[in-house]
Amino acid sequence: MSESESYQNWLSSKEHDKESLCLNCGACCGVFEDPCEHLMMTPEGKSHCRVYATRFGPHRSVSGESLYCVPIRQKIGHSWPGDERCGYKKFKLG
Ligand code: SF4
Ligand code: SF4
Repeated sequence: MSESESYQNWLSSKEHDKESLCLNCGACCGVFEDPCEHLMMTPEGKSHCRVYATRFGPHRSVSGESLYCVPIRQKIGHSWPGDERCGYKKFKLG
């Protein structure tokens, strides 16, 4: 394996470690107020984004309000309804 491939693998594993902190509660996608139009909740109460691969940017809530999806590290310093459930906040990572 080349140095570049090793580095890419290391980056991927770090990204996976960080993403695994998400508890899929849906709070940052508005589940406790006015959810994003792309938010889907499973019967087990886990959130999924229907457009995850292209999520960043302008969207609408189910009531038609504008919202702008940003990486969680840009939200971590702010508050939102239900953020006490957020795995990133619990583990103080962003
Ligand atoms: S687009 Fe963003 S805000 Fe909307 S459900 Fe997906 S991750 Fe959540
Ligand atoms: S609030 Fe935190 S734990 Fe819940 S879905 Fe958003 S990033 Fe994941």
